[in-house]
Amino acid sequence: MISNISNGNSLNTSARRILVAGGAGFLGSHLCERLLNQGHSVVCLDNLSTGRMENLSHLLSFDRFSFVRHDIVASLDLPVDEIYNLACPASPPHYQADPIHTMKTNVIGSLNLLELATRYQARIFQASTSEVYGDPHVHPQPEHYWGNVNSFGPRSCYDEGKRSAETLFHDFHQQHGVDIRVVRIFNTYGPRMRPDDGRVVSNFIVQALKGEDITVYGDGSQTRSFCYVNDLIEGFHRLMYSPNAIHTPVNIGNPDEFTVGALAEQIIDMIGSRSKVAHRPLPVDDPRQRRPDIEVAKRELGWQPTVELADGLRSTIAYFERQLAKRTGKLAA
Ligand code: NAD
Ligand code: UDP
Repeated sequence: MISNISNGNSLNTSARRILVAGGAGFLGSHLCERLLNQGHSVVCLDNLSTGRMENLSHLLSFDRFSFVRHDIVASLDLPVDEIYNLACPASPPHYQADPIHTMKTNVIGSLNLLELATRYQARIFQASTSEVYGDPHVHPQPEHYWGNVNSFGPRSCYDEGKRSAETLFHDFHQQHGVDIRVVRIFNTYGPRMRPDDGRVVSNFIVQALKGEDITVYGDGSQTRSFCYVNDLIEGFHRLMYSPNAIHTPVNIGNPDEFTVGALAEQIIDMIGSRSKVAHRPLPVDDPRQRRPDIEVAKRELGWQPTVELADGLRSTIAYFERQLAKRTGKLAA
């Protein structure tokens, strides 16, 4: 119902039918919400491997919203005006649990969605990743850097899968004139990550809230740059609907760079936790450093992040407090 509009985005008069693959996940659920609030019809398609219906519970009352349980590795036919492809587990433990299916999702799944886009002349958006830069030798990473990626390791199913997907997007644009948009997402965090997601921000917050050891992999000197989810979704919107159609990949991320050790300390301090840092082995091929060069997004989209890490962490911590309280309540019941 339109009366449910909550985030102040204006309604779009040219409402479209939009497919969001991976819409029950962390980022996908925020995207579905944004598109619904703009007046579009949204079909969320998800195999619920890492996604959760609870991420969508507040959207089910929209009559313009529908959910289809489907794996994009299987072909599909659905008339649509636009497609967003976010379907793929994003956390290393999840995408490494079934690496062959991760590769299939990125290659066969992307192919299926690109064929759908060709059939219905739909604009199609790909959620690519900073992992296409691998363990980078160029820092920060601009879009024209080709990366340093291992094709034969535990991260390869994801990194090479996403690289192959980018190639397919490039080729469908060149060969069939498909209207593509490709975003390279840098580490993003916020409400609706799973408590057992396995990525660093959710792990540290959940561990700190429970008073458990904070598992810093390696010596904690590796760096990442953390973008709050609302900033990212605004970047998606600007890229997808920019008047100057950009058919090449665009980095979207927050260039403020932190060591993993510093992130652990900040989360312990903010929560006032009794947790101690406990070092664990560094995973194979873990990138040493990562930070986006966002000059293209600034120049072409007028986009830059607005949420400071401390502010984003505050709302993410509040979310996980509620999640844990809900679970404890359930256990006690
Ligand atoms: P997530 O794991 O929360 O969401 C992925 C969603 O895709 C889940 O709902 C999952 O059930 C669904 N899915 C997975 N495989 C599928 C398949 N074969 N068919 C249908 N659905 C499938 O992860 P997220 O953080 O929301 O990431 C969303 C997208 O953004 C992913 O493509 C990811 O690679 C990309 N990305 C995310 C980040 C980040 O920091 N969050 C960074 C880089 C790229
Ligand atoms: N990391 C960590 N402890 C954890 C989870 C992750 O120290 O409990 C580290 C991980 O080794 C990496 C960084 O945090 O250096 C970011 O990891 P994440 O899995 O969030 O994302 P990615 O490695 O894909 O950037």
